[in-house]
Amino acid sequence: MVTPTHVTILGSTGSIGHNTLDVIARHPERFAVHTLTAHSRMDLLAKQAFESKAVAVAVPTAVAAERFKTAWGDAPKRPDIRVGAQALVEVASDPASEAVMAAIVGSAGLPAALAAAQAGKRVLLANKEALVAAGSLFMAAVRASGAELLPIDSEHNAIFQCLPHHDRASAPAGPAAGVRRLVLTASGGPFRNQRWAELAHVTPEQACAHPNWSMGRKISVDSATMLNKGLEVIEARHLFAMPAERISVVIHPQSVVHSMVEYEDGSVLAQLGQPDMRTPIAYGLGFPERISSGVGMLDLALAGRLDFAQPDLKQLPCLALSFEALKAGQGACIALNAANEVAVAAFLDKRLGYTKIAQVIEATLNWQMGQPEASLSSLDDIIELDELSRQAARRAALD
Ligand code: NDP
Ligand code: MG
Repeated sequence: MVTPTHVTILGSTGSIGHNTLDVIARHPERFAVHTLTAHSRMDLLAKQAFESKAVAVAVPTAVAAERFKTAWGDAPKRPDIRVGAQALVEVASDPASEAVMAAIVGSAGLPAALAAAQAGKRVLLANKEALVAAGSLFMAAVRASGAELLPIDSEHNAIFQCLPHHDRASAPAGPAAGVRRLVLTASGGPFRNQRWAELAHVTPEQACAHPNWSMGRKISVDSATMLNKGLEVIEARHLFAMPAERISVVIHPQSVVHSMVEYEDGSVLAQLGQPDMRTPIAYGLGFPERISSGVGMLDLALAGRLDFAQPDLKQLPCLALSFEALKAGQGACIALNAANEVAVAAFLDKRLGYTKIAQVIEATLNWQMGQPEASLSSLDDIIELDELSRQAARRAALD
């Protein structure tokens, strides 16, 4: 009998966490859940832990632990309950699990994702904010530990699949040989045909109604503003050691082509599929083998047509600001991401207008660029700048 791979899911109660559990449940002989973590949804965590026979769970506070116990009730074999931020880091590096799905939203997920990389795990990386804030540190950790890094973000997973087989290093030192350009596709989100100035009164519900993908609320808003695509360009830059000028973005409303790799000879390889995150998740879990994911066939005849268009940066200030941050360097990328997290949370809470998201990011970037250059070589340095940027963003949101 083959021993199953033990998988820990950081952020199991979210959209990626849910889809990961779905794929794992299809392969009970191949995968076993080790630890699940959640932040607020303790009832759901208890249900997931019970159904997946998790060995342990990690929760943020003692109060959350009590809520978990209540939700578990008197069911048998209650999992070990680990509490606090340090517990998240510990479960991510626990030798008892071989694979870690990093699916916490935001830079809150960085310490645990980094711990998994440092511990040499197979890291299934959904948490793009970790790479945006700490790309160099994260990739250096992967290189040093020999971790196996598999991108889960659909665009990066598509690119990974289209890269030359012999050159799919986990943390490449430079661009893959023979590759000219990476092309990230973007659906354009729910407001693709509207001008930015018309969007001032957009509600959270409208912004979260993505035409093709079902995702968590924060990334849904990021997809609407297209800041998400900016984060993804930064993510691609680190994952594939590709200079920013060799990464381009094309609008593709149908979300069938998930991204492309263009080679020196003019060949363009694309990965296609239904917009369902179980495909990249199954790819990451099974790599290098292909395993079933529950995703159905792609009916191109039904899709009928595939459209592509150039993004108009004048109508997409959040994407334009991302390109500026990428050009300015890591400090600006940290500030961009932190400001966006603050602004999107305020928007979802109905405390900030939709178009103000770009204003808060711009003000925070201006603040960061006026600061003396700080060293960003350690996790503590990065967390400190992230926190200072959040403070600057909160001030900007009040203006
Ligand atoms: P969700 O909001 O659906 O889930 C987020 C998860 O993180 C939940 O389990 C949540 O716990 C947990 N969490 C939230 N805040 C904290 C915190 N401060 N500390 C610890 N845990 C926390 O997000 P998604 O699943 O949509 O996205 C997860 C990541 O994957 C993001 O980085 C996103 O950009 C990326 N991604 C997502 C895609 C998608 O299709 N959803 C596609 C590509 C990338 P709880 O629910 O209990 O509060
Ligand atoms: Mg994506």
